Amino acid sequence: MQGRKNYTEKLFLSFRLSDRVPKDNLYRRLRETLDLSFIYKDTKELYGSTGNPSIDPVVFFKLLITGYLENITSDRKLVEHCSMRMDVLYFLGYDLDEELPWHSTISRTRQLYPESLFLTLFNKVFALCVDSGMVSGHTQAVDSAPIKANASMESVVPKMPATPMKSHLKKVSEENGETTKKHVGTVSPAHITAPEHELKRMEKHHQNLRDSPVRLAGASHKKARLLSNKTHYNPYDPDARISFKPGKARKLNYHCSMAVDTAEGVISHIQADFADGRDSQYLKGIGLRVQGRLGKNGLVMTDLLADAGYSNGANYDFLEQGKVTGWIPVFGKYKPEIKGFPYDRERDEYSCPMGRPLPFKGFRTNKDGSVLKNYWASPKDCKACPMKPQCVPKTKCKKIIRTIYDEQYLRAYARQHSEKGKRMKKLRQSTVEPVFGSLTQFYGLRKIGVLGKAGAHKVMLMAAIAFNLKKYLRKGGGRPFIGILSTITDTLKDCMTVFHWSNPIETDSHKGPIKTTLFSRILVQRPLLQQPRTFFGTLTIFAN
Ligand code: SF4
Repeated sequence: MQGRKNYTEKLFLSFRLSDRVPKDNLYRRLRETLDLSFIYKDTKELYGSTGNPSIDPVVFFKLLITGYLENITSDRKLVEHCSMRMDVLYFLGYDLDEELPWHSTISRTRQLYPESLFLTLFNKVFALCVDSGMVSGHTQAVDSAPIKANASMESVVPKMPATPMKSHLKKVSEENGETTKKHVGTVSPAHITAPEHELKRMEKHHQNLRDSPVRLAGASHKKARLLSNKTHYNPYDPDARISFKPGKARKLNYHCSMAVDTAEGVISHIQADFADGRDSQYLKGIGLRVQGRLGKNGLVMTDLLADAGYSNGANYDFLEQGKVTGWIPVFGKYKPEIKGFPYDRERDEYSCPMGRPLPFKGFRTNKDGSVLKNYWASPKDCKACPMKPQCVPKTKCKKIIRTIYDEQYLRAYARQHSEKGKRMKKLRQSTVEPVFGSLTQFYGLRKIGVLGKAGAHKVMLMAAIAFNLKKYLRKGGGRPFIGILSTITDTLKDCMTVFHWSNPIETDSHKGPIKTTLFSRILVQRPLLQQPRTFFGTLTIFAN
């Protein structure tokens, strides 16, 4: 017989939210695991003793965590979504018939709370991951990505000159078809702070683009403008900067730098920076903060993995001073040796193909502050040399300029081309890049919905907190045996050969699994390392 369900709304219900939320539900487990009571104490001073009660600070953070777990970036949509989810209501501590906070209260509270509070929560969640054995600490992978700011390129206006430079302003305004009337927004007009030589270089570059016979894509559009962070800004969000990735349109972005522990992919650090900076200038700050956070949790960083964007002599030196091995490829233009000009380390001099010396002549400081070493051949030698037309046709003598960090570069170059260096590159690519992909696709980091660098930092921290929490509950929460596994794999790290699925292991298979000591060579398929549950069951050990 066909059944038919009739619905008649009841006036009174006998219902308990806790009965309806399954035991293994993510939000139920979060409610049982996450102790946010410290937030009451940390936010007490931000409120007065009279007036209407504020949003509960713990509820505020729980709402934010839900937003990033559910990939919802709009506060209004978040409140709508939460009010329809029984498990989320249970996590928030609200009953079905209770009204959730008004959405604009969330954005005002976000502005009210300092970055340090968000950072404290991030540290607490990170400590949870450490306690469950998900963080090894020794190897950290660093990377960065531009994250779209909540500002439009259409609203970009020229900066005011720092000194009265009416002609310059007029020129910039004329070029862009704008007037100073457009200086509207939430802040007073910004001033040009870039040094004169950089402005000249930028102007030359723009002139080359205008004179180029091949016009840039989109250059014929009536709204097309040549813009630079040195001369333009967005008055609604002055911290957002113009940046682009090759092949993609220019946008106003924030720069997100992140460090990820390679054991289980837990985020160990995240920060917001201006998008017009280079990766390399942020590495020192990232390294110090990661070391500090790991140190507080009793862990030590020994290896740091990053791409060539972080290549910089000062960075190599900083890592070496801190006893950290930097697995950072040297940037493309670096040459470990100059062809035909061998270097004598003891005498600190080069010699040329004619056997003449190029001794060290002194230091030189570039406009960007980098220090270089000068090596010159004697003008007398070059003048009398038959090879001068080929060697130095336009100058009096041959000059070689090297960085003061040449030794550090050479060591980094050797590491980069070693077998371990190649493995470390793959490890970096398989660790930090997927985490960035997850944050932007599934944890609400595709766009910064708030204004200002401090706001962007809070957003990034919350996305990282949600990511780590989910990982903690899925992989590590309450499973201490993973810590034991991590310790064993750490011990074997340097005597272990890691094979991918595509690497056949038949070469050794004829030997069959035999008994081995702890420091024998171990062949293990890499994906198993990422699934510790199956690791012990299928690990096969072969003797060397
Ligand atoms: S031109 Fe000067 S540097 Fe070049 S080969 Fe001759 S002596 Fe050496």
